[in-house]
Amino acid sequence: MTEGSGHTAVEIAKSLVDGCGRRIDHLRLSLTERCNLACQYCSAGQDTRACRIEAGFAIALARWLLVRHAVGHVRLTGGEPLLHPEVVEIVAALSAIGSLDEITLTTNGQALAARALRLRQAGLARVNISLDTLRAERFARLTRGGEISHTLRGIEAAIAAELKPVRLNVVVQRGVNDDELCDLARWGLERGCAVRFLEVMPIGPMVEAFRGQLVTAAEILDRLSDSLILTPVSAPPGQPATDFGAASPGGGLAGCIGVIASTTRPFCSRCRRLRITARGEILSCLFDTGGSSLADAWDGRELNEDAADRMLQAAVMAKPHRGQRAQRKQMVSIGG
Ligand code: SAM
Repeated sequence: MTEGSGHTAVEIAKSLVDGCGRRIDHLRLSLTERCNLACQYCSAGQDTRACRIEAGFAIALARWLLVRHAVGHVRLTGGEPLLHPEVVEIVAALSAIGSLDEITLTTNGQALAARALRLRQAGLARVNISLDTLRAERFARLTRGGEISHTLRGIEAAIAAELKPVRLNVVVQRGVNDDELCDLARWGLERGCAVRFLEVMPIGPMVEAFRGQLVTAAEILDRLSDSLILTPVSAPPGQPATDFGAASPGGGLAGCIGVIASTTRPFCSRCRRLRITARGEILSCLFDTGGSSLADAWDGRELNEDAADRMLQAAVMAKPHRGQRAQRKQMVSIGG
């Protein structure tokens, strides 16, 4: 609510704090379960039952969390968030709320080239773009049919639109793309992108395959150190990545490289995230198996914020001290 209530955000916003004393102020909102790629670690293949969130519902949820619960950062995700036909309008509506620190988006970049500038103008601050390989054939295989040139054009458009820093997310898999770590780092740094290497997580299709494919953050850093000088930099609170200033030994290249050790060094004690899926489900942890759906508090026009508050409080208090280490749900339906 709050619209027309006469309260300002500052007067009524009350921080969300979970049972472990963690302040929850980052929302990951999945706009759709659909994706135009089907990365092997993320999804078992296209799902014809995939659904998307209604734009009005997404905006009402974000406004409720921002204004009533002092959530400051919204990351739009999916599935592929750019497949939501009203993604630009959603960004504009969130931006108009005014009290948000930052709106960001995670995308595979396939449909970004045509939208980057409009998203920027609508108020998007920056983007994370998934790019696991620079090789066209490998890209097509890993994504089950993706065309790498579309993502590369999306990256160029994001740079041109100053959605910065443009961050490239690389999920590292042994025997799949771990021979390209230095190439990917160099390619990103040359374009002024930050490059983040993610440990693969035992989620969805990776529950069985993951042990053989995990490359630890320590090993990733070790390999990157072969061609880059890495210097640790301090991170803002709640940030899952360990970031490094990166420079080439002879000079010429400089920028930021990060690793996310979700598997070997989980950052649960610093986790400030709350997830809402495209079905309206609240997930207090990536490893949640499912909970109440905020869709029950939405009548198609208005969010019953008192009912939503009750679901939210229950979810936040149930946020586990430490996430379980396996999740059968697919990442494509959770949002990453
Ligand atoms: N379609 C968008 C994309 O590709 O970036 C957004 C959704 S995707 C689920 C969000 C992030 O989750 C991506 O960076 C992806 O690489 C990551 N991801 C998916 N499955 C993963 C897994 N099993 N382990 C680690 N990261 C994963």
